[in-house]
Amino acid sequence: MKHKGTPKFPQIEKQGSYGAFTQDGISPMIPQPFTINGLKPDTFRAQELERVFTRFLQLVDPTRDPVEQDCGTSETPHRAAKAWLNQWAAGYNQDPMEIMKVVEDGAEGYHSSVCVEEIEVYSHCEHHLAPIIGKALVAYIPNGKILGLSKLNRLVDVYARRLQVQERLTTQIADALDAGLEPHGVAVFIRARHLCMESRGVRQNSVTSTQAFKGVFAEGLKDNPYEMEMRLFMERCASLKA
Ligand SMILES: [Zn+2]
Repeated sequence: MKHKGTPKFPQIEKQGSYGAFTQDGISPMIPQPFTINGLKPDTFRAQELERVFTRFLQLVDPTRDPVEQDCGTSETPHRAAKAWLNQWAAGYNQDPMEIMKVVEDGAEGYHSSVCVEEIEVYSHCEHHLAPIIGKALVAYIPNGKILGLSKLNRLVDVYARRLQVQERLTTQIADALDAGLEPHGVAVFIRARHLCMESRGVRQNSVTSTQAFKGVFAEGLKDNPYEMEMRLFMERCASLKA
């Protein structure tokens, strides 16, 4: 064969628009009639990803017969593309500030922290595309504005359903809450297992903890009017299991 050693990938580049799709940062949120190759962006993205997963299967399993129709993996490219676009990478289609817009009254007279514990975290590491599974604890001290409690879960989810590193995920959640609610303080704690770490090499079953503090939570305990809230947060962190 002429191009020995050069994998014969689907000729995405020749179609021209895939590059524009990524370089211009055009997202599937762009309203119609925007199209790529005559397709809606969502459809185009799903089709391309299916092609990538088909090629992926051929490369990781060279024994796989590419034309066999009824093998166990015949529907895998379609299922995998759907799972990535609709679930695992769905956070790219969602604007965190849309969630933060829903600010309710009702914090008058409340001068302590609001804390949601045991928020499930399902993410993927951007280095290996391997799952990150853990729990988050999110607290803030309202300064007049509060958020529906389920919104904290959604906010975590929007950032988790992207390719991540745990440090950035933690900071992004804290920054969004800080920007959206302008509270006295924000604290985010995440404890998670990284399957890339657990399943490769030394197989460490370690758990990674990260935290981000803003406002009064970032100040020391001494002379802090929210010392009690900070201590409560630390106690809750100690009992959070990944
Ligand atoms: Zn990794």
